[in-house]
Amino acid sequence: MSKTILITGASSGIGKATAKKFQAKGWNVIATMRNPEKENELTSLENVFITKLDVQDLTSITSAIEEGIDKFGKIDVVLNNAGYGILGTFESVARENVSRQFDVNVLGLFDVTRAVLPHFRANKSGMFINISSVGGKTTFPMMQLYHATKFAVEGFSESLQYELEPIGAKIKIVEPGSIKTDFSGRSMDFQHNDELTEYNEFASGVMNIFEQLMSSEKRNSPNLVADVIYNAATDGTNTLRYVAGPDAEHLLKARKTMNDAEFLSMMKNNLNIK
Ligand code: NAP
Repeated sequence: MSKTILITGASSGIGKATAKKFQAKGWNVIATMRNPEKENELTSLENVFITKLDVQDLTSITSAIEEGIDKFGKIDVVLNNAGYGILGTFESVARENVSRQFDVNVLGLFDVTRAVLPHFRANKSGMFINISSVGGKTTFPMMQLYHATKFAVEGFSESLQYELEPIGAKIKIVEPGSIKTDFSGRSMDFQHNDELTEYNEFASGVMNIFEQLMSSEKRNSPNLVADVIYNAATDGTNTLRYVAGPDAEHLLKARKTMNDAEFLSMMKNNLNIK
């Protein structure tokens, strides 16, 4: 019998590439998104069930899971992928935007996980694959809130693996580097209040570097991440972390081998920050 994956944020980028990868490998795919009525690519694929799931809306989470199980009988893997990032000086970000950043990237992921756990417990099997980031271990300036959410995903996932073992389930973390998706456009929330003049020079320097990085042709394809996710789902190991992309490998290696002062100084030099 074919296996089934449920994906959050399957409308674009890594989520959509992963939906196509698993479908091509013969899996059933529950491709969830906030606005399924706008989807016109995955709709043509066999064994792909498209349904609404907004990670900020508990009712939509439970109904997407129920509909998916009704359709395919079982969920084997859940890809917690939905997410976005705030780029800005911390003082510029209103509390409600701080909340939304955590609601989507952290509490939303918790809610999907909690809603699927009874199914995994009943089946004595199942796997969560949580999309963290190279930014779940290292930091870029002006992304303090985004990093805080991804560091949270790392800690949550690593601790959860202990209690998943006795119920027969697994968890894996995927850490992509810079990937060519809508993340740096539509999914990036820019927030800097330039009345906070003391930050302006720093903020415009960081924004320039960010724009260069995000328009770089060196960014990897979301298909590379989809391949890593497929490998994580099927390699039969208990490996916890999977790094996706040579840039992420390079940066995470530097983070491991350098002390804080060395690493931060290397980052400032590379990013041309005084
Ligand atoms: P993307 O193409 O912009 O995809 C983001 C997805 O998240 C979209 O499908 C978006 O849906 C969805 N989403 C946002 N808020 C949501 C909500 N409340 N409920 C459900 N879905 C929601 O960017 P991406 O790069 O593929 O991002 C996917 C994941 O990869 C994110 O967790 C991101 O942090 C992580 N990541 C990305 C990079 C990168 O360089 N691109 C690197 C490391 C990690 P809508 O279409 O409805 O907006």
